[in-house]
Amino acid sequence: MNARDTFPTDPDAEAMTAWRHTIHRHPELGFKEFKTSTLVADLLGQWGYGVTTGLAVTGVVGTLRWGRHEDGLRLGLRADMDALPIEEATGLPWASATPGQMHACGHDGHTAMLLGAAQVLAQAAADGQLGDGGTAHLIFQPAEELGGGGGARRMIEEGLFERFPCDAIFAMHNYPGMPTGRFHFRSGPFMASSDKVLIRFHGKGGHGAMPHLAVDPTLPAAATVLALQGIVGRNIDPIKDTAVISVGRITAGSMYNVIPQTAELELSVRALDPAVRDQLQARILAVAEGHAAAHGVRAEISYERGYPVLVNSEAETRFAADVARQRFVESQVDADALPLAGSEDFAYMLQRVPGCYLMIGNGDNGHDGGLRVGPCSVHNPHFDFNDECLPLGAAYWVALAERFFKIYPRRNTP
Ligand SMILES: [Zn+2]
Ligand SMILES: [Zn+2]
Repeated sequence: MNARDTFPTDPDAEAMTAWRHTIHRHPELGFKEFKTSTLVADLLGQWGYGVTTGLAVTGVVGTLRWGRHEDGLRLGLRADMDALPIEEATGLPWASATPGQMHACGHDGHTAMLLGAAQVLAQAAADGQLGDGGTAHLIFQPAEELGGGGGARRMIEEGLFERFPCDAIFAMHNYPGMPTGRFHFRSGPFMASSDKVLIRFHGKGGHGAMPHLAVDPTLPAAATVLALQGIVGRNIDPIKDTAVISVGRITAGSMYNVIPQTAELELSVRALDPAVRDQLQARILAVAEGHAAAHGVRAEISYERGYPVLVNSEAETRFAADVARQRFVESQVDADALPLAGSEDFAYMLQRVPGCYLMIGNGDNGHDGGLRVGPCSVHNPHFDFNDECLPLGAAYWVALAERFFKIYPRRNTP
């Protein structure tokens, strides 16, 4: 029998759309997803899940156990729930009712897809369609967007995997510009590390007419901006490795005829290999300190490490891609997609448990005045998660769970 015929129930597209629109209309920022997590917890409870709330403030874990679960596998599926501090400009009927906040990254859709799958899985487990026994932990995570203090790390610190052990874990993000119904996977590094660097050059302020009596901090700042791209261009292997250094902020001075006391640079630094990440850090420190010394100023540097490189494990990625090939059209699955320079705190979960982070195409789903206006990236005020993805993503989760509990290699087998 074909895998797609074994489940009598498809995820409820209408219900998922309604949940998604409700969540979209009431966006909540990181660690403040109170209404969203209440909606999630209530539904999971109705379907018979053991529900744990309050992990990392607003995180929710729904646990489903069936049959001889003591000996069975334990699957983790994760969705993120938080919105962004962006004023929505889609004009859609379900647009944000909260000024200055919106779901511009599609986490409303990720949450709705996992809920749709949760409903089907509860019924399937009760009907004996998920093998002899097992445990599914559905993890609804807060605060993916918050950078250094992301919700995934906080859930782990609060005992996520001790309380809810998983043999493998998976998560999915929508990807604008990729056709709906397409799935992308990649084994190994898939998303970049993201570090934030503040460099402050301390000089000596003075009159613009008498530079020789001052120590101008704008010169080392300007020289450092130029030299930083030399790190990417000259120190990093151009064939094998990826590195991005972007200067997002340059700040110095307040008036045309005043030499300022300080000059500041703020950088975003990304890599797809932990060794390259270390190399970038060492070179950035050397370049900034070297320029400071050359210009007779002091460099104060704060190097904040954000999300690590997201590394998909090989066996779980192969498994996850096979699920998509069997459940959907093979030509719609790219099992060797290019990595992305974006970052994602699911990387912390993958440091603890093998698994795979995958992408589902969101199509061209930008909206203006309520009308679809074409391509639109995430974090744009015109972005909306594509409701056509809901049944596809939820069906994918269901198929993955079914195959996981039926054919995945047993735990503790030699
Ligand atoms: Zn985002
Ligand atoms: Zn996101």
